[in-house]
Amino acid sequence: MSHAIGMDIGGTKTLLGIIRDDGRIEAQVKMPTAPQDGFDAAVRRFSGAIRGLLGQSNLRVADLAGIGIGCPGPLNPFTGVINNDYTLPSWGGSNIVKALSGEFGIPVSLENDADAALLGEGYAGAGRGAGNLVMLTFGTGVGGAVLNNGVIYRGAAGEHPEIGHVPIDPGGPTCYCGLNGCLESLASGSAIAEAGKRAGFADSQEVFARVLAGDGRAMRILARAVRACATGLWTIIHTFLPDRLILGGGIMQEHYELFEPAMLDVIKRAKLGPSTGMQLCKATLQNDAGLVGAGFLMMQSKPASK
Ligand SMILES: [Zn+2]
Repeated sequence: MSHAIGMDIGGTKTLLGIIRDDGRIEAQVKMPTAPQDGFDAAVRRFSGAIRGLLGQSNLRVADLAGIGIGCPGPLNPFTGVINNDYTLPSWGGSNIVKALSGEFGIPVSLENDADAALLGEGYAGAGRGAGNLVMLTFGTGVGGAVLNNGVIYRGAAGEHPEIGHVPIDPGGPTCYCGLNGCLESLASGSAIAEAGKRAGFADSQEVFARVLAGDGRAMRILARAVRACATGLWTIIHTFLPDRLILGGGIMQEHYELFEPAMLDVIKRAKLGPSTGMQLCKATLQNDAGLVGAGFLMMQSKPASK
């Protein structure tokens, strides 16, 4: 049994855990990221938490395959430098790989949080047994990640493709990515909330609640998001032809069933792929995907036993 530390760093909360090579979490702790206290203070708190987890599990540093970290980008997975001006501005240019490998003397690896979450689902969740995976995460925005034969797909400078910003409707809302009507601008939690506000609803939760109650305005807002996802799926199928598409994030966790029929219809209509088609499924690890996947960064050559 091999163990690694997994870390899922977010703008407000960080999860740390001891991950086993079968995907189980042996012990975990959640703490504020508190980026305003500065990078060095965060590294001290994370290091203390790692030692605490080791103590709880009767493990020594030498028993660990390493420390894997998932973090919102931009970041450089090769050097370990985090440059996220949006959610971790006070850490700009800090090297978390260097800091933690200096502290513990074991291998440390850093990846974009969307890639870490897909590794978690790929090795221990909804993607198990499939080598070519695409995952879309629907939360405030729409994140995407691609696993090619079990390995994270990398583009220029090691970055991952931003599938949440593929074009859907040129007449759609303007997005910060530079395009009008990308997938995120039409189907993210923020997009649904904004359309909902224009129709008199408080937020995206109210839109979904009113859909279930049969409200016509809410159903039109949902229909726009579902159509955008279905169109985006056509692009994903014809670009990557994955074995399986995993839908995750808060929206899919709660409302996957509302999106599934239109997505399955797209898969049925896409005739150019193999006759066995592509599978669609809901993420299963929920909030633990990033944590488990971060642990698997250190055990990639050793996937979970099937
Ligand atoms: Zn966009």
